[in-house]
Amino acid sequence: MTNNKKRREALVYHAKPQPGKIKVVPTKPYATQRDLALAYSPGVAEPCLEINRDRENVYRYTAKGNIVAVITNGTAVLGLGDIGPEAAKPVMEGKSLLFKIFADIDGIDIELDTKDVDQFVETVKTIAPTFGGINLEDIKAPEAFEIERRLKEELDIPVMHDDQHGTAIISAAALLNALELTNRKMEEVRIVISGAGAAAVSCTRLYKAFGAKAENILMLDSKGVIRKDREGLTPEKLEFATDLKVSTLEEAIKGADVFIGLSIADIMTPEMLLSMSENPIVFAMANPDPEIDYNLACKTREDIIMATGRSDHPNQVNNVLGFPFIFRGALDVRATKINEEMKMAAVKALADLAKEPVPEQVNIAYGETKLTFGKDYIIPKPFDPRLIAEVPMAVARAAMESGVAKAPVADWERYREELLS
Ligand code: NAP
Ligand code: MG
Repeated sequence: MTNNKKRREALVYHAKPQPGKIKVVPTKPYATQRDLALAYSPGVAEPCLEINRDRENVYRYTAKGNIVAVITNGTAVLGLGDIGPEAAKPVMEGKSLLFKIFADIDGIDIELDTKDVDQFVETVKTIAPTFGGINLEDIKAPEAFEIERRLKEELDIPVMHDDQHGTAIISAAALLNALELTNRKMEEVRIVISGAGAAAVSCTRLYKAFGAKAENILMLDSKGVIRKDREGLTPEKLEFATDLKVSTLEEAIKGADVFIGLSIADIMTPEMLLSMSENPIVFAMANPDPEIDYNLACKTREDIIMATGRSDHPNQVNNVLGFPFIFRGALDVRATKINEEMKMAAVKALADLAKEPVPEQVNIAYGETKLTFGKDYIIPKPFDPRLIAEVPMAVARAAMESGVAKAPVADWERYREELLS
């Protein structure tokens, strides 16, 4: 398809038959006068009073517990940058669509016209009573770090900035499996991270939670390796700064086991790839074009295990494997937050699922003859029907065990059936 044709197709998809991608649909009968008297005045006063008596009843009598706000200010939208709140709306509606189809969660997109951190935080806090959870989206770093931190502290519903944690969770699952396939340990591998933005910082923190050693990690931004002797580092960058006297990617990557790319296209050369260790693990996730082209990388190193952000290659690190299912589990146990334990449980559930035999319908959906755990299949595929049971259950269990679940699961078999129905 030509670019022009693709562009038209995308625009028509969004414009017809009605503008946008989501709408609100009633869930209760509304055909008779009696129905309406229940739905609205006078009947509606009864749940109001019950909720006024005990605020937790809002989960019983309203849709709050299944609504997630998808909130942005449009400052870091896809690879498009700061395009403003209105222009971000198609992306947020798209996220709502994904919440719905993968986890039956009602995502409501909210675009805020502010770049001010205090105003953003105050606004979200003010509207939070409406929602069961808050998915922060496409907000520029470093503001995104502070916005998420403060909202997590100040709200009692799950808050997650998906650009940080979604990628971290999916790529950590892929990394655990790539290490297992090559008989390596997280504690021992040398990791080079290209990029020091929202995604890179959160990924690196999570890899450390899984055992990666600070002294084995080198992180680079647009100015090169982040070294302690560099001036004006943000607190996030300082966290990963090294004492080693290396400056360039070329120097940093020599002998490295793992390359994590969350920066920009085409910064890794075949020579750099050749200088990595045996069985190099390369997750080149810059979108839409990775740090090194997939085919070039595979041609350069036969022993590579490679993942990208793209759907046209194996091992796509796709956030849709995470956020719908993580929020599903969090909402179902009425978790007061999405904590480290819950994220790590999601990672393990995803990593484990990739090792299970793949149902035939997944092979068919992806036009594969037989997907099996190995270098071209280290993470599950988004249309795997097992995700909706395995990931939310793991997240819910972790929420309970870490003491943040207000409505614990009592019957796991029944919960599984509900998820699958
Ligand atoms: P971000 O916050 O804007 O961060 C981008 C980072 O890349 C910055 O730290 C920047 O350095 C650094 N950078 C720029 N040029 C560089 C170079 N030549 N060498 C090394 N680092 C360089 O963006 P983000 O949200 O973290 O996303 C980063 C990239 O990852 C994007 O391409 C995005 O599409 C991709 N991504 C992919 C997935 C996925 O595959 N699932 C998920 C999330 C993000 P400075 O700090 O010096 O500006
Ligand atoms: Mg995003």
